[in-house]
Amino acid sequence: MFTRRTVITYEKLEQVAYRFAAVEVAGAWCEECGTDVRWLTPYQVLAMSGLTLREIFRRIESHQTHFRETAAGLLVICYQSVQIPEREQR
Ligand SMILES: [Zn+2]
Repeated sequence: MFTRRTVITYEKLEQVAYRFAAVEVAGAWCEECGTDVRWLTPYQVLAMSGLTLREIFRRIESHQTHFRETAAGLLVICYQSVQIPEREQR
């Protein structure tokens, strides 16, 4: 179930994601994780995690997944904070 705000954010993030080709992130440090992480585009996360794009954005919305914007206003996701279902069992 989507709230209005969630839908708008989702569409906005999706638009931003479409503009991605290659992304340069200044430094790999994630403050929330307290360590260096890989920063990936939403579509890279999609491909690597097996999550749906909607699920990825839902997690961003609920602050389960860390993200930040590059200087160019593009969105990147902290891959460390993406909880991958089942595949990676540690
Ligand atoms: Zn993080």
